[in-house]
Amino acid sequence: MSEQAQINVMEQLVSLCKRRGFVYPASEIYGGLNGFWDYGPLGVLLKNNIRDSWWRSMVEVPPIGPDGHPVDMVGLDSAIIQNPKTWVASGHVGGFSDPMVDDRETKQRYRADHLVCAIAKVKRKNGDVQELGFLAVLDGDRAVNDFVKRADKLARKTGGGEIQPPERSELTLFTKLDPERQKQVWGPEATQAGTLTEPRAFNLMFQTYVGAIQDETSKAYLRPETAQGQFLNFKNIVDTTRVKIPFGVAQIGKSFRNEVTPRNFIFRSREFEQMEMEWFCHPDEARKWYDFWKEERMKWWKSLGVRDENLRFRDHDADELSHYSKMTVDIEYKYPFTAPDFGELEGIAHRGCYDLTQHQTHSGQKLDYFDQELQLKLKEQGASADEIKQKSRYIPNVIEPASGLTRAVLVVLCEAYRRDPNRQGSVEYLSIKPQFAPIKCGIFPLVNKEGMPEVSEKLYLDLRKHFTCEHDVKQSIGKRYARMDEIGTPFCVTIDGETMKDQTLTVRERDAMTQERVSLDKIKGYLLERLSAE
Ligand code: ATP
Repeated sequence: MSEQAQINVMEQLVSLCKRRGFVYPASEIYGGLNGFWDYGPLGVLLKNNIRDSWWRSMVEVPPIGPDGHPVDMVGLDSAIIQNPKTWVASGHVGGFSDPMVDDRETKQRYRADHLVCAIAKVKRKNGDVQELGFLAVLDGDRAVNDFVKRADKLARKTGGGEIQPPERSELTLFTKLDPERQKQVWGPEATQAGTLTEPRAFNLMFQTYVGAIQDETSKAYLRPETAQGQFLNFKNIVDTTRVKIPFGVAQIGKSFRNEVTPRNFIFRSREFEQMEMEWFCHPDEARKWYDFWKEERMKWWKSLGVRDENLRFRDHDADELSHYSKMTVDIEYKYPFTAPDFGELEGIAHRGCYDLTQHQTHSGQKLDYFDQELQLKLKEQGASADEIKQKSRYIPNVIEPASGLTRAVLVVLCEAYRRDPNRQGSVEYLSIKPQFAPIKCGIFPLVNKEGMPEVSEKLYLDLRKHFTCEHDVKQSIGKRYARMDEIGTPFCVTIDGETMKDQTLTVRERDAMTQERVSLDKIKGYLLERLSAE
């Protein structure tokens, strides 16, 4: 498909999502808010179905491990706002909130807290001392040297002279200058003053205040990932449940990132939902579990009905790895806006012992694990008392499959979107796998009279106890089918004149549009079987 056609698919999908109540721009009546979306009546059903499938595959029916037994997994729902020290320890305060300045002239970008400035002074041959300008250089051991070199270069352009080197203490951090002063600074490579922008905090974390007083001491953050909740509760879970290493803690919930460029519909938003699992294991086994979860996660994405050719793994290069990660692989999807390339869907990271070590250091609480089974094994192997003591206590390693629930909604929609010019009513339909479809069955009387609506309502009242159904008596049958196709309803049943005579009804299947007659007393079993088919 051409690039233009691909982009149009996205436009059409966004429009269908709005028209049919999957996704609306947040606060639309006020002009919306960039990066925020509301999930409408059908969107929330679809999202919940995907969420439930992840939870079931992780927590309720976790996969069979390499030893042939189900792996150990528990769930968690931790607070969105935690003690702000959490985010200092995790590296988010340092890593997510850099004050940045751009140089409009040279197009260079700097950390504002890495620039130091002072007034450059030159003593001319006639003894006059003149100010050359307020120069900035990069902070560091060589800062005074660099400053003098720059000043010298400038002085030579205007007749030369002797540069008066500033004391180290005279170099002021750019961030400490008042805004008016900042406007007079020469950027490190600029040829004039005033080309640096004001420092902007590229802080991906949303800040808020806890309690009545709004100052530095009450500042808190909306979590930018759910994962830290698992680390904060590691000790609680070990102490209060029967899990033993290796085990996992899974969580689904909202995360918030003040993304600089939210874009591509719900792909990158500022408020989104994540599904993250932290797998705690012995450091020697981390690699084995990394490979295990990599395969398991790919299987799950395929279980959503995503075609093989639209999914792939991509290993992170060493220079791309996050500060905490020893190795990371992304599961990527061929989105209409990235095709023929792929974009991130899920990251599976080997986080080593980074997080627990950080929280142990910052909280002063012991977060190591005493491995009783390993202790026994070492005893049996005849290890010395010292070796047993040293080896059976350790900080576990962590393997983290982290995916976006709202991004999964997008993938299921992209994957399901179909156009067929030969279809009557609407050329668009969503071929969502029945298990994930928001509405499983549309129930219609052919006409809204002759006893048909009474029969269809009775059927609806029974079937709705088993799966989501919609009873619709209005409009032509073609229009009702088309609407159901557009929202991805896999089956529609219609009560017609025949039903009144022989107690059979029509079942119509969404994709093939085939119709068959099934007797009224068998329809529940028939639908339950087809809806649960893999
Ligand atoms: P990206 O590179 O796309 O910004 P990331 O590598 O920062 O993502 P992670 O921190 O690994 O993402 O988050 C795990 C998952 O959470 C991502 O794979 C993605 O599915 C989802 N996610 C992250 N940021 C967003 C966002 N702004 N909007 C929607 N989903 C997101």
